[in-house]
Amino acid sequence: MPRYLLLSDIHANLTALEAALAAVEGRWDRAVCLGDVVGYGPDPNGVIDRVVSLGVRTIRGNHDKAGSGVESGEDFNPIARAALEWTQHELRPENLRWLRALPAGPLVEDGLVFVHGAVADEDEYIFSIEGAARSLRESTAAITFFGHTHLQGGFLLRNDRVEAFRPSIGKDGGSVAMELDPNARYLINPGSIGQPRDADPRAAFAIADPERQAIEFWRVPYDIEAVQLRMDEAGLPEPLVLRLAFGR
Ligand code: ZN
Repeated sequence: MPRYLLLSDIHANLTALEAALAAVEGRWDRAVCLGDVVGYGPDPNGVIDRVVSLGVRTIRGNHDKAGSGVESGEDFNPIARAALEWTQHELRPENLRWLRALPAGPLVEDGLVFVHGAVADEDEYIFSIEGAARSLRESTAAITFFGHTHLQGGFLLRNDRVEAFRPSIGKDGGSVAMELDPNARYLINPGSIGQPRDADPRAAFAIADPERQAIEFWRVPYDIEAVQLRMDEAGLPEPLVLRLAFGR
């Protein structure tokens, strides 16, 4: 079975994506993106070009829908909406078409399930034990990958109890490995590449080895200031520029 590179919430941050890819070259066989390729960041075309050239299987996120006009974006706050309008204007026609054609999750591959938000609703955020319990029971797979919250970690269901887990990766970056219990069901969030919100600004992602029942959570530093500079030049809203440095 292939080793899966799990990317999510890249949010048009090419510098973070390149840092992540460089850190794990040769360590994965297949890549899946759990949505939100664009929105917030300054590089929508660059990120789509890279994801397409790498052959990453991608499902859509809420920002991909609103950034390409599949949905109106009226549910977004004014700052996110300003970034989406900029994105839509910036995208090359072929990239706009690619974004519009992205399928909704769940994607099922090798007995694994991949979604953006929750299993039954691509726009639902899984923050709570209750929300996690619902998706853990609804999923057709023992291992389900999700994104949308920009928080690395997840939930497991064992003996009818749901617990949350959060990996902790040292200041030098790199990965921590987690062994999966074959008697448990998992909801796993690789974290966000381009706009982490778990108080750690480093690019977050994961590599899963289903055959070995193992998952590695990764954290890789990148040149945040270079991205902030491009955001300033693009005229993207200041709160989006500032939050990258805090990982909030
Ligand atoms: Zn997102």
